[in-house]
Amino acid sequence: MFTAAQSIIAANHPGLPDPGVVLVADSLLWPHQPAVACPAVAILDGEVRRRGVRTVRGHLHVDTEDHEAVSLRAVLPGIGGLGAAVTRPTPRVTEAVCGAMAACLAVAGVSRRILLAAPRSFCAGVERAIEVVERLLNQRGGPVYVRKQIVHNAHVVADLQARGAVFVDELNEVPRGATVVFSAHGVSPAVRAAARLRNLQVVDATCPLVTKVHSEARRFVERGDTVILVGHAGHEEVEGTLGEAPERMILVQSVEEARRVRVADPKRVSYLTQTTLSVEETAEVVAVLRGRFPALRGPGSEDICYATSNRQDALRDVAAASDLVLVIGSPNSSNSIRLVEAARRAGAAAHLIDDTGDIQPLWLTEVRTIGLTAGASAPPRLVSAVIEALGGLGPVTVEERETTRETLRFTLPSTLR
Ligand code: SF4
Repeated sequence: MFTAAQSIIAANHPGLPDPGVVLVADSLLWPHQPAVACPAVAILDGEVRRRGVRTVRGHLHVDTEDHEAVSLRAVLPGIGGLGAAVTRPTPRVTEAVCGAMAACLAVAGVSRRILLAAPRSFCAGVERAIEVVERLLNQRGGPVYVRKQIVHNAHVVADLQARGAVFVDELNEVPRGATVVFSAHGVSPAVRAAARLRNLQVVDATCPLVTKVHSEARRFVERGDTVILVGHAGHEEVEGTLGEAPERMILVQSVEEARRVRVADPKRVSYLTQTTLSVEETAEVVAVLRGRFPALRGPGSEDICYATSNRQDALRDVAAASDLVLVIGSPNSSNSIRLVEAARRAGAAAHLIDDTGDIQPLWLTEVRTIGLTAGASAPPRLVSAVIEALGGLGPVTVEERETTRETLRFTLPSTLR
């Protein structure tokens, strides 16, 4: 357990932020002693912020007195520290800081095992899409316009934004004649036409596996079929695919909808799927469709992409042996959400986290084995950060469970090679 003082002390902290804003410690500094690093800082920081209090990160000096400041700190020998301080706190802020610190300390000092699912994190389509924007930034400098999020991850978007990428929702936000990147999720023919009308230079970062689904949609419609697209309404990939033939395609989102869907001619019906669906749920939906339409024809090979199914397979293995599963990914990442669902189906408690700051200490109560994975759009560095932060609450061992090795790479659009 943490052994150092956990009481509130009065202290003067060089560099403390404005009154009421909490300094959460990256490290604890005593005079004439080595600094104590605080690897779990992001977990404490997130817990304070969830209690409605603003924070900044920095070094916490715990040596001198200032009766207007409140400071809490604790040290776990050999593991690291935890600390927070605030000047002239209101009772609400004091309660938030003390509560957050207590929540972290309640789950600290416990040895844990991390089971790391492999494959995880970036897929070939995401790597290609990010590289498209990076190459354009390197070759032409900013701004580089990107329609929609290049991939569904807040960290990737923020990184590229900081380097000069400008993300827009619609093409009328892009200056006429400028270069625009289409995101990995693909676009409808109507969007391509709108780009031509604005004389935009298009660089297409659509994942080739999404492009394959678009081609199938066109082919199936051309042979006279009604095409049932299994997917989620509102997802950009689905909007783009449906846009290939909106009058001949029908979206089905669930088994219930598959039982009710009506088609013009039951003998001429095909199905396609979004690339990032649950393999298990989609099989159920397709089975219902087959039962209703025996002549149903599907894609030559699965539309659910290799990256989605590999990550689900790997996680199922890990989830079965875990008390808790953490899936790193943004809330709008379809394949990440499917991973959370897959873990829950395997019987584990599971949560989606955008980054370390979303880990709620309460989740770790009595947890000894944590399954960890990341959706196809989540950067690998976030996985390392989570492992490091968990290691700041107690000793961790990391065991990787690899179910398959991915070697697929997609070539860049010819204009960028
Ligand atoms: Fe392409 Fe699949 Fe990655 Fe989406 S998740 S970008 S479809 S490889």
